[in-house]
Amino acid sequence: MSTPILRFAPSPTGLLHVGNARTALYNALYARREGGTFILRYDDTDTARSTAAFAQAIGEDMAWLGIAPDRVEHQSARLPRYDAAVEKLKAAGRLYPAYESEEELETKRLSRRRRGLPPIYDRAALKLTDADRARLEGEGRRPHWRFRLDGRRVAWADLVRGEQAVDTATLSDPVLIRADGSYLYTLTSVVDDIEMGVTHVVRGEDHVTNTGVQIEIAEALGAAAPVFGHHNLLTLPSGEGLSKRLGHLSLRALREAGEEPLAVAALAVLTGTSLAVEPVADLDTLAAKIDFGRISRAPARFDPAELTSLSAATLHHLPFAAVAGRLAALGVGGGEAFWLAVRGNLARFSDALAWWRVVEGPLDPVTAPEDADFLAVAAASLPPEPWDEGVYPRWIAALKPASGRAGRALFHPLRLALTGAESGPELKALLPLIGREKALARLSGKRG
Ligand code: GLU
Repeated sequence: MSTPILRFAPSPTGLLHVGNARTALYNALYARREGGTFILRYDDTDTARSTAAFAQAIGEDMAWLGIAPDRVEHQSARLPRYDAAVEKLKAAGRLYPAYESEEELETKRLSRRRRGLPPIYDRAALKLTDADRARLEGEGRRPHWRFRLDGRRVAWADLVRGEQAVDTATLSDPVLIRADGSYLYTLTSVVDDIEMGVTHVVRGEDHVTNTGVQIEIAEALGAAAPVFGHHNLLTLPSGEGLSKRLGHLSLRALREAGEEPLAVAALAVLTGTSLAVEPVADLDTLAAKIDFGRISRAPARFDPAELTSLSAATLHHLPFAAVAGRLAALGVGGGEAFWLAVRGNLARFSDALAWWRVVEGPLDPVTAPEDADFLAVAAASLPPEPWDEGVYPRWIAALKPASGRAGRALFHPLRLALTGAESGPELKALLPLIGREKALARLSGKRG
């Protein structure tokens, strides 16, 4: 089989939410795992609603998730290709002009419903004569263009849902060109999927009906349809569907709340499948888990509280190499030793900065008067430099007999003096990072 080509095709009409991330990740990670190509295609022919700012935000949010596309396309820059496809469909008698206004169509739908008929388009425009069209255009009406469906059972083997079929006789002939001449993605997606050699279209189950239509369009253009997979949709915890327009669970908001991108990715991919939701070490690990056959059929709730704990659990295992750039951007030093010392104590990545301030100082130590003598002994027992990771056990081994203390009475005052906090990363790991000079100052009750 040829290498797979997949695409994520958002309309830049809002910020991506976790449901969009689910679609993007299924496509990007499947392509990555199979050595294929992943295209980011902006479905931006709706110029009234698409904005450059949303397109840029989508690119940034995908970069944040870690799924860089191999290729980026904008439908708005590909209009001549759609013009050519339109000519072909017109020549084949598959596109016809229709002149009804939205209000007229609504009246027709109501009247069909009253008569117990499905509210689909009655194809009145197919019966118009040249003279009728000339008269309508003379009234100043501009046509929109509809695709004449075959009205048959269109079937495909869905990656997620198995055998699927749509009876296109039950559907309205879809509008492919608006009255203002702009194209709908129902057409442009098919043209692009053909031209870009897209092999797999993985998208939400809200597109199942479209797929019946789009397979007909692809065939009318003389092409074979790609493989389709329709995954279940994510919802809010309340069960309400996610809306890009309403800004539900946007990746932007989750990023600003400090959630980990890898945790967002894991939850977006694993929720609503028969796989366990668990932290992953990297996107390749997540890619290896993708199995379209294990995606559930029912909508699945995305739980932000679960995300918060998954973010923490994800951080606790991230290797230094995965975070070195982010630590530097945060102004955190200390290298790998610091990261390994603190990662297990982080709820949010930014908590690393607070621990770095503890290491770096200056810090006001917390010392209780009743511990003054003990801390003086502790200061005096600090091993000489150079310090390595063995310094803490050496110190404690000396301090126990020298002070006569053990357990909490020994460790708690040391932690308070050295870190100013009741709890935190292991002192064994922190002490060499703090260094002898600052440790000595803090144990002596001085700012250091
Ligand atoms: N622009 C469409 C959407 O965001 C693309 C659907 C598709 O993947 O074909 O729903």
